[in-house]
Amino acid sequence: MNTITQLSSRREFLRQSALLAGSAIVSANAFGNIQIGKKTKVIVIGGGFAGLAAAYALRKKNVDVTVIESRNRLGGRVFSHVIDPVQNLTVELGAEWVGNSHTRIRELCDEFKLELLNNQFDTHLIYKNQYSKTTDWDFSDDWKGKFKVLLKQYQTMTDQDKLHLDQMDWWRYLVNNGCEGKDLILRELLDSTDFGESIRHVSAFIALATFAESSEKNEMDLKIKNGNAQLAKKLAEQIGQENIFTGHKVTKIEQKENVIVHCENGKTFEADKLICAIPTFAIKNIQWEPGMPDEKTRALNELQYARINKNALLFNKRFWEAENFDMITDQVPHYFYHATKNQPSAKGVLISYTIGEKAELIANQNDEWRKEMIHQTLNPFFGDVRGMLQSQANYYWGTDNISQGAYAMYGINQWHTTRPALQKPFLHTHFAGEHLADWQGFMEGALVSGETAALEVIGA
Ligand SMILES: Cc1cc2nc3c(=O)[nH]c(=O)nc-3n(C[C@H](O)[C@H](O)[C@H](O)COP(=O)(O)OP(=O)(O)OC[C@H]3O[C@@H](n4cnc5c(N)ncnc54)[C@H](O)[C@@H]3O)c2cc1C
Repeated sequence: MNTITQLSSRREFLRQSALLAGSAIVSANAFGNIQIGKKTKVIVIGGGFAGLAAAYALRKKNVDVTVIESRNRLGGRVFSHVIDPVQNLTVELGAEWVGNSHTRIRELCDEFKLELLNNQFDTHLIYKNQYSKTTDWDFSDDWKGKFKVLLKQYQTMTDQDKLHLDQMDWWRYLVNNGCEGKDLILRELLDSTDFGESIRHVSAFIALATFAESSEKNEMDLKIKNGNAQLAKKLAEQIGQENIFTGHKVTKIEQKENVIVHCENGKTFEADKLICAIPTFAIKNIQWEPGMPDEKTRALNELQYARINKNALLFNKRFWEAENFDMITDQVPHYFYHATKNQPSAKGVLISYTIGEKAELIANQNDEWRKEMIHQTLNPFFGDVRGMLQSQANYYWGTDNISQGAYAMYGINQWHTTRPALQKPFLHTHFAGEHLADWQGFMEGALVSGETAALEVIGA
């Protein structure tokens, strides 16, 4: 289980490493003369969790805030989808799990009376054409012992050790520490679902810190009843619909004495300050006047995002039986989980969750092809399930025209160089989004980054 001490120790290191890199977050009041009480105007670009949390925090401080969102819906990469309107079965095409350690999102759910339901699973396995139930497979005792030691060692690592660790990828680190054979393959299959790409691309520091600091089920703990997008709805109600403009894509930002934001549909908005709460690909698609500093442009060009495909399969029967069913496989559909846990119905949804090239491959095919792929994997162990399949919903984040990826993936030596450069304010603009957060890649991180930007803007 996670402890607060562990978490704060990691946060502390991250802050210090930013300082070491000579690019600490510039404090907001260095930029402006804004005072609370005076009618300050702030524009927030992005109606995802980061932007909405920023706008809500500002509204609470009586700041005049406008949210501009390019899609026709709020929530961004939180994308709840009703796959069966008659039975009201809702699945997540974006973010799924709220972690037990994610205190801010849990507080907000509490504040808005949103119920958090248990969304933990016990993992089955298909490996080399053999199916094992959750209790019938495990890592070898040798590797379990070694891994335990590594997690323990992390707690006493110095900052220098951590910087050193960041020079290596997770696959290499595991190999160097005696992980091999089936253990290594299982780690690749499991851990790559967390990071969204092969563990050969992920910084060893990010991975070890994640596993050492996460909850027992690796933050795959809870989900908001009726869909995670309920939180976006509640935040929007507090911000006020009249202050939110969906279907408005920002194309140009001018920063002089104030900020002028131009949208594709010809509308313009003016404000004293700007919070830019959008992914890096979207930042780069905006024409900035004046242009971004070189350091920021370089960082924007460096950061990669993970490719994730979610293929939701609606069946007229829950043939997997256990409500807490999930399964890792070494086949194309990669990882399955029961996406309608806690939603009473005879029908149910399995999501095939794929990463990297598998994700791209599946996304490029049609529903018929995907049906046959699922059949090929499941048939030997669950029988022919094709007759039970009613419909599919598929979403591939790798070609999402706004983010071109699911979430940021920090590679070797990027966390304490690329991230601080992206965090730095630029003239009247402050930045927010999951890619900048300590809980990077999570809804929690997005929310906290938005609230942090709001504080920066009002100089608190
Ligand atoms: C497949 C997948 C699985 C995930 N699983 C989990 C999970 O289990 N648990 C978890 O906590 N997190 C998970 N996440 C991550 C989580 O979804 C993100 O961390 C979080 O939602 C990001 O929020 P954000 O506000 O930073 O960005 P976004 O949600 O991307 O919001 C940015 C918003 O800005 C808008 N925008 C962009 N450009 C412009 C423009 N030019 N003009 C106007 N608006 C613009 C976008 O449309 C978008 O709505 C997952 C994400 C994906 C994709």
